[in-house]
Amino acid sequence: MKNSLLKNLYIKHKETSLSGRYIHTKSIAPLLNKHSKFFKIETIGQSVLSENIYSITLGTGPNKILMWSQMHGNESTTTKALFDLLNLFSEDKSNNILKNCTILIVPILNPDGALAYTRLNANNVDLNRDAQALSQPESVVLNTLFNDFKPHFCFNLHGQRTIFSAGNTNSTASLSFLSPAQDQECTITDNRKVAMSLIVKINNMLQEELPNQVGTYDDAYNINCVGDAFQSLNVPTVLFEAGHCKNDYNREEVRRYVFQSYLVALNAIANNQIELLDFEDYLNIPENKKLFYDIIIKNVLVNNRHIDIAVHYEERLIDEKVNFIPKISKIDNLDGFFAHKYIEANGYKALEHLVDVPQIGSEIDFVIIDNVKLLLNVE
Ligand SMILES: [Zn+2]
Repeated sequence: MKNSLLKNLYIKHKETSLSGRYIHTKSIAPLLNKHSKFFKIETIGQSVLSENIYSITLGTGPNKILMWSQMHGNESTTTKALFDLLNLFSEDKSNNILKNCTILIVPILNPDGALAYTRLNANNVDLNRDAQALSQPESVVLNTLFNDFKPHFCFNLHGQRTIFSAGNTNSTASLSFLSPAQDQECTITDNRKVAMSLIVKINNMLQEELPNQVGTYDDAYNINCVGDAFQSLNVPTVLFEAGHCKNDYNREEVRRYVFQSYLVALNAIANNQIELLDFEDYLNIPENKKLFYDIIIKNVLVNNRHIDIAVHYEERLIDEKVNFIPKISKIDNLDGFFAHKYIEANGYKALEHLVDVPQIGSEIDFVIIDNVKLLLNVE
């Protein structure tokens, strides 16, 4: 599928009732209702705080794919793209993917975290470290679904912070992927090669629009992570991470790339286009490094010397909206690091309006450079 076609499909089918970062069970309730006319929607369990966890089943084909999103409650971009995908399939019921695949989707695995806008569940447990202990009801729900459905492929859907570069470069990792390890030695098994080959197909598509902006995660084995656990049971598993595109703090631009990535991967599965040998191209995708800050203020005068100040946004839920609070995260010479936005302080103090000397963790809403006030908020 050409990128222009994929983009047109997105524009046509985007679910306009979902936007921004704060997506929870109430946001998707009307959509589950709408899609219940077309697809099987089931309540598959409850969260710690007794919120329902839902699944959506579509398609009738032999290739079984299990997709779950918002296992980390504040990682909502992949959920938005799932509903874009559901719109496409509800309006195109003869789609080749539906004929050749049965897709089981959990749109929000961690509804309590989604409502509170936290990574963790209501017991402060990271569900992506609970694959063996299965100590949390949400983990049991996913594990039961996996055992009952017996998928041939798993898509583990997440969102990543703005800090990642694609390799040691000044290119932001707008999307990242991983074919997790399935043993301590990180053996590249055939099973992993299948997942790698899907990622290569996605990467080839993304490079046309986001050159050098795709990364992979390091594959250190951790059986407590759900991806590693499912992969170790010989089910090819792909980790998707929606990241940052320029000025896209609401993750509406990367949402399209996630939608396109779903379609490329599902299409490859539906049409039996998986080439094991493609795995070598996967190994050439750069591994993510943490080289980015949201803002770097260059050449600030602090204690009579020129220094750089890095700012990260802390995401904070206030009145049902995610606010991006600028906070100082590093004060140092930051050559070799990169930012999504630069401010040149030209040797001015810039932060003299702060009561004390700038400190890590201080909130700063603005800087003053040569008597000009510059706001640091997300535009
Ligand atoms: Zn995550």
